[in-house]
Amino acid sequence: MTTSSNQEVWTVFKRLMVYIKPLKGVFFLAVVGLVLYGLVDMTFIAIIKPFIDGGFGGQASQIPSAASGIDLGTSDGFNSSSNVLTMAPFVVIGLFTLRGLANFLSTYCVSYMSARLIMDMRQQVFDHYLTLPVSYMDRENTGSLISRVTYDTEQIARATGSALISIVRDSITVIGMLVVMFYYSWKLSLCILIIGPIIGLIITVVSRRFRKISKRIQTAMGGVTTATEQMITGHKNVLSFGGQKTESQRFGVVNEQNRYQTMKLAMAQSVSQPLVMVIGSFALAFVLYAASLESLQSELTAGTFATILGAMLALLNPIKSLTRVNAEFQRGIAACTTVFELLDIEPETDNGTHTVDRVKGELSFNNVSFSYPGQEGLALDKIDFSVKQGQTIALVGRSGSGKSTIASLITRFYTGLSEGEIQLDGININDYTIKCLRSQVALVSQQVTLFNDSIANNIAYAYSGEATPEQIMEAARSAHAMEFIDQLPEGMDTQIGENGVMLSGGQRQRIAIARAILRNSPVLILDEATSALDTESEKAIQQGLDNLRLNRTSIVIAHRLSTIESADMILVIDQGKVVERGNHASLLEQGGVYSNLYQMQFGS
Ligand code: ADP
Repeated sequence: MTTSSNQEVWTVFKRLMVYIKPLKGVFFLAVVGLVLYGLVDMTFIAIIKPFIDGGFGGQASQIPSAASGIDLGTSDGFNSSSNVLTMAPFVVIGLFTLRGLANFLSTYCVSYMSARLIMDMRQQVFDHYLTLPVSYMDRENTGSLISRVTYDTEQIARATGSALISIVRDSITVIGMLVVMFYYSWKLSLCILIIGPIIGLIITVVSRRFRKISKRIQTAMGGVTTATEQMITGHKNVLSFGGQKTESQRFGVVNEQNRYQTMKLAMAQSVSQPLVMVIGSFALAFVLYAASLESLQSELTAGTFATILGAMLALLNPIKSLTRVNAEFQRGIAACTTVFELLDIEPETDNGTHTVDRVKGELSFNNVSFSYPGQEGLALDKIDFSVKQGQTIALVGRSGSGKSTIASLITRFYTGLSEGEIQLDGININDYTIKCLRSQVALVSQQVTLFNDSIANNIAYAYSGEATPEQIMEAARSAHAMEFIDQLPEGMDTQIGENGVMLSGGQRQRIAIARAILRNSPVLILDEATSALDTESEKAIQQGLDNLRLNRTSIVIAHRLSTIESADMILVIDQGKVVERGNHASLLEQGGVYSNLYQMQFGS
């Protein structure tokens, strides 16, 4: 790792600590639990010696012990031996109880910290999404946006938790075991410390090699699937061409190959495990050999030897997880970096200061040109029009011509016009605060977003403040939605399921219309549904829309020309430009694009 990336890791780590800081108390308790856990393990190993020497072996205790200080009993005679043995059960129960408590304390506290960390980060990321510009959300893919909230936060907490456990508990255990070993016999411990890493290294290299081989063999086994798939998808062809024999032979070859590979894999696996064990036995053999040496034998009792052996074995797992802690830590830091990068993305800019309760609704586009960020061509090219209060303007044109772009600019979903300006009541829309601007506009789009809630709450969703049941009912009636709501078992209180699965397209549209009516904003953007609806819903929706448009400035993105005959002005858009304008009658008279479209749709 280079210095600069080390520095980055450090920066990320410091930032992560900000989240942990409020949990100082829990963190401290977790550490206490972990330290205690390690110490209990160490004590357990340390008392093996007095237990064996003082409890069972009268004769062993004749040998002068280097560590008589820890002996639980003075070691002569039957009496003291039985003393140690009678005490042992209590010591064991005591230690295990303590270990259990330490385990509970640390597990609980670490889980508590993780859960808090996940919750806080999730909330922060979620809330941050709500402030980000539409242009950012367009660029990113939904899956990865979701996984920031669900997966990455979890990774961070998991890595933090297990790193903490490893670093504190395992280091205490390792240090403790080493202390015990050296205390009882530094010479034997030194031998172990020299031979241990060598054997450990050999075992690591060997098992890694075997894992690699196994993986290679496994990837070579895909042939059977491919051959079978080919035969099944081409079954008809094989039968009609009489290719059975060829196919069967072809399959026979891969089938045999597969068997051969399977055996190779089995061979590799069955060799690797015993081999590792044999290599491991060298360590044990070496220790036994060292113990038999004259110079060491004098200081070794049965108990000392058992303790050191126990400590050696107890070292293995903590060492293993300590070697993994860096990888875990790196994974956590990587997840952290992803989340922090997201949190650093600037929210929507809002430099406007103008606020107003309710605009009149005079909207004008003055020579507006716009291109999407990162896109070369113009999405809109010198769009120029104005709508008076309460009027309806309809936008017509092929898909991709720029109609939705015009609508998106009104609510400042995209900013940075290359030219011109958009005014609402004679004031540049950038001068309004975003909140004020958007509160003047109701949007009814073809994808109606419904929430997993009651119909009443769905209608009231966009209303600022508490809507009374009467208001909701009134809005639903105007939207011609009461016709179907009344038929539902629980009426307004019917739960509509995830994204309104229970409702038909026409019903969803009418709920959206009711929502907009209740919102009662002076400007309305209406993106008509493209999909055909049954005639009855169609009529109801049309009536609902007529009610909605009443006394509002409306911008209608029209797909079916029948619905806009009454519009005050129709703009025909093509490739971001207005190519024709006028009302229905005058456009038909011109005999241009609009008139062609009209004839196509009505075949007259
Ligand atoms: P319409 O609503 O008439 O179907 P749009 O306004 O959606 O057309 O699209 C106009 C042009 O802008 C199209 O060429 C489209 O590819 C492009 N466009 C639309 N949305 C985006 C976006 N979020 N990012 C980049 N380009 C876009």
